[in-house]
Amino acid sequence: MEMPKRTPRGQRLVLVPCPYQGHINPMLQLGKFLHSKGFSITIVHTHFNSPSPSNHPEFIFLPIPDGLTVPLVSSGNIIAILLALNANCKSSFLQCLTTQVMKQEPEKKITCIIYDEFMYFSEPVANHLNIPSIILRTTSAANFLARTTVVDLHSKGLIPFPDSELLNPVPQLHPIRFKDLPISPFDTFENFLKVVVNAHDVRTSSAIICNTTDCLDQSSLARIQQHCQVPIFSIGPLHKIATAASSSFLEEDTSCIEWLDKQSHKSVIYVSLGSVASIGEKELAEMAWGLANSKQPFLWVIRPGSVIGSDWTELLPQGFREAIGERGFIVKWAPQREVLAHGAVGGFWTHCGWNSTLESISEGVPMICKPCFSDQKVHARYISRVWRIGLELEDEFERGEIERAVRKLMMNSDGEEIRMRAKDMKEKIQVSMSKGGSNYNFLNELVEFIMAF
Ligand code: UDP
Repeated sequence: MEMPKRTPRGQRLVLVPCPYQGHINPMLQLGKFLHSKGFSITIVHTHFNSPSPSNHPEFIFLPIPDGLTVPLVSSGNIIAILLALNANCKSSFLQCLTTQVMKQEPEKKITCIIYDEFMYFSEPVANHLNIPSIILRTTSAANFLARTTVVDLHSKGLIPFPDSELLNPVPQLHPIRFKDLPISPFDTFENFLKVVVNAHDVRTSSAIICNTTDCLDQSSLARIQQHCQVPIFSIGPLHKIATAASSSFLEEDTSCIEWLDKQSHKSVIYVSLGSVASIGEKELAEMAWGLANSKQPFLWVIRPGSVIGSDWTELLPQGFREAIGERGFIVKWAPQREVLAHGAVGGFWTHCGWNSTLESISEGVPMICKPCFSDQKVHARYISRVWRIGLELEDEFERGEIERAVRKLMMNSDGEEIRMRAKDMKEKIQVSMSKGGSNYNFLNELVEFIMAF
């Protein structure tokens, strides 16, 4: 990537990631990119789900107390955790930054704070210290619009909506139906709304960085920009702009790469439901038999604790391991970007988290979508109905449907067009990242924008 005319000369940026895997990854990737452009990077992070400093010696890490209690963390209630973080971290962040500002050398001043939209306590602190701030949105623009629509529908008294509306299209939001709206299942609707309204409020921030790109999200981005007073830099997929070291909370099991090396070209379906979603024993059994009966090789991530009522794979159905033999490989956590870039992988059964979606698209891997909640439902619709690079499993987990979907995606002639479109989409992303492409231009503009502070 071509350097802008000026270089930052040690200008210091503070990054505040939200402590979930799907948020930490893009923030550290952004940090890596900005570091490669000459900025010095400080990551201010919570104790909860803290990143590992040893993987990123180029950054300075500063932990702040987050005040989360053990019962709250173990409840897994993301909305309640986000509300608590925003209530608790404002003063610890202010204290941390004040100390940094007092001891900083004039030529290494903190010139900007970049914070995850869900860490909105950062903005009043930045404002108080007269430091400009920028918001990072780690989800798609389509999902942002869908969340905005939820807020609008609520203000018109249209939420909760009756079950009879579930399959109806949401006006102005094609192809999203009411059942696809990204409403969080984790807490009361009022608390969810509180988080969304705060996360969407730009306040005094100077710009928004989005981990998306024109070739996926152009019409949504244009609609958002119309109502937004500050510039939006859509510079995704962030994992492609700088090769950041792993920021996984769990250890990546690289033995799966050796197993992939032994499989034929594009024969393997990779299966992962991300870092948060979980399933029950019945769903696990349907998944297992669907995969086994498809006769395709598969690499399956079963995250410890992701099957309700078990630690790991104890609830896999009897006879399953014998049925699959060497054809299936199960790990606790995979080096996902490497897996998706591997020549043996021909499909991805995903929960449609935005990072997974971008990682799959960037490698031209078509998807089977089984969204669990929130933005995943919006992305599943876009993957299957707008970009048409995947199939959606709409109903309950059912082994016959899973088996048919895997075969269609991976080998049948009626899946050929999906596979071709996935390949084309990868090329479009590559074009947008090369000289003169939209991603390339936005990246250079962003660097110039930050240097002007
Ligand atoms: N991931 C990984 N190994 C795995 C499963 C997931 O490295 O075995 C990474 C994946 O590459 C992605 C992130 O975890 O960057 C998950 O983020 P996403 O937005 O897809 O879903 P979430 O976990 O937030 O639901």
